[in-house]
Amino acid sequence: MPSVYIKTYGCQMNERDSEAVAAQLVAKGYTLAPSATVADVILLNTCSVRDLAEQKALRKMENLAAEIRRDRPGVVLGFMGCMAQSRGQELIDRLPDVDLVLGTQKFHRAADCLDEIIAGRRDKIVDVAEEPGSEATIREHLLYGNAAKNGGGAVGGHRPPPPVTAFVSIMQGCNQYCTFCIVPYTRGEERSRTIPDIVAECRQLAAQGVKEITLLGQIVTSYGKRFSQAELFGGASVSASRLVSSLAPPKQTPFVQLLDAVHEIDGLERIRFTAPHPKGYGDDLIEAYARLPKLVESAHLPVQSGSDRVLKLMHRGYTRERYLALIEKLRRARPEIGISTDIIVGFPGETEDDFEQTLSLAREVEFDQAYIFKYSQRRDTPAAGLPEQVPQKLREERNQRLLAVINEIAAGKYQKFVGRRTQILVEGPSRKNPARMTGRTRCNKIVVFDSVEREHRGRLMGVKITRASSFTLYGDPVILD
Ligand code: SAM
Repeated sequence: MPSVYIKTYGCQMNERDSEAVAAQLVAKGYTLAPSATVADVILLNTCSVRDLAEQKALRKMENLAAEIRRDRPGVVLGFMGCMAQSRGQELIDRLPDVDLVLGTQKFHRAADCLDEIIAGRRDKIVDVAEEPGSEATIREHLLYGNAAKNGGGAVGGHRPPPPVTAFVSIMQGCNQYCTFCIVPYTRGEERSRTIPDIVAECRQLAAQGVKEITLLGQIVTSYGKRFSQAELFGGASVSASRLVSSLAPPKQTPFVQLLDAVHEIDGLERIRFTAPHPKGYGDDLIEAYARLPKLVESAHLPVQSGSDRVLKLMHRGYTRERYLALIEKLRRARPEIGISTDIIVGFPGETEDDFEQTLSLAREVEFDQAYIFKYSQRRDTPAAGLPEQVPQKLREERNQRLLAVINEIAAGKYQKFVGRRTQILVEGPSRKNPARMTGRTRCNKIVVFDSVEREHRGRLMGVKITRASSFTLYGDPVILD
């Protein structure tokens, strides 16, 4: 059978989609190639959020076509995901060496399409149509790892151990239509899976040794909004749905009902989720942080700007004041909570005063981590047509100024951990140094410690933090009281 190499650009949702495609192909008998240079099929799973990500994938494909196709003309080349969805046939017109363009609602069709191409029944395939029910097709996991990530896969007949953490896709699409964002156009309308379907997948992962699950969606706080209470539990028998719904008090949002149901799964130690929208953070979700011990003290809350004027232009649906009030409520519910965010600098019309409000918000919140993005004009989005585009040089300058503030605050926050004892979930050997292991605190900070004891993997462990560098803590194992 052919070997396949998948390269992923962009967010965790894309990582998860690639994993599901790899699992689907492995189930059909494909092997996973450790690099593109030896693969029979090369798939690039693309991101469209910024132009830079699109350009990177286009350049990569150009190089692959020039280098690999020259020596091995039979290699199949394909684009999948967001850029495939938004550009479709245009990609083949531009790069005629590409054989396959697969949109965001068609990942489950990857194996069938490749079969057709490899068997010579079809020359090129472009499939970017909408497909009802596709949100429930991202469910297979590659529990024993990707050969590319595991140095060639099974060595000496020993399979690598299954992962400790897993991503579970709970919904697809986004209906927010933020004026800067291409996601509603590449991922389509919000579509959610049912609670029993998601719980079954999480239960299976827990049975296979997974200890931490991250629930994923473009906008998880909108999960299940379009379902009636019965549809939310769709597919389950009446008694099963009663059983699950009895776990959650009534009047909770579907997302909190889902958290309650996943929380019940034996063997699962930790639950995370991403990405929520600040305006979807109701009191029931804040109360869930205080009520559900497996829901870790960590929240990724994309703020985008500290200026109300810009937030309005972005169509974010909250004000600076409301955002700050939300942070305060979360910190009251869980004082140890780690808070990360996304911020865009140089949105059209952003003045020096607007930008300074973003700087002051960053200082006021004291984020543990922030992903800063220079605004990028995206096709079909309202902001792309706004007249006052900020010059690139100024976007770069604001990026550097904000980065300096974020890094200074984060360094102080990480330093405060030194001398403290905390719990980590051990994820495995450090990639940089196999004589060390890495784990993650509940508030989502990476901790590195000296150990070659592979049986620590998957365990909750106490560590005393001995030093901190930017965005990494170092510690020694201890017994926690
Ligand atoms: N669902 C999340 C929300 O609504 O807050 C965001 C998901 S988006 C794929 C990830 C981040 O990319 C956004 O939070 C935003 O900061 C950034 N982003 C999106 N569109 C962008 C653009 N046109 N230019 C620069 N950054 C952008």
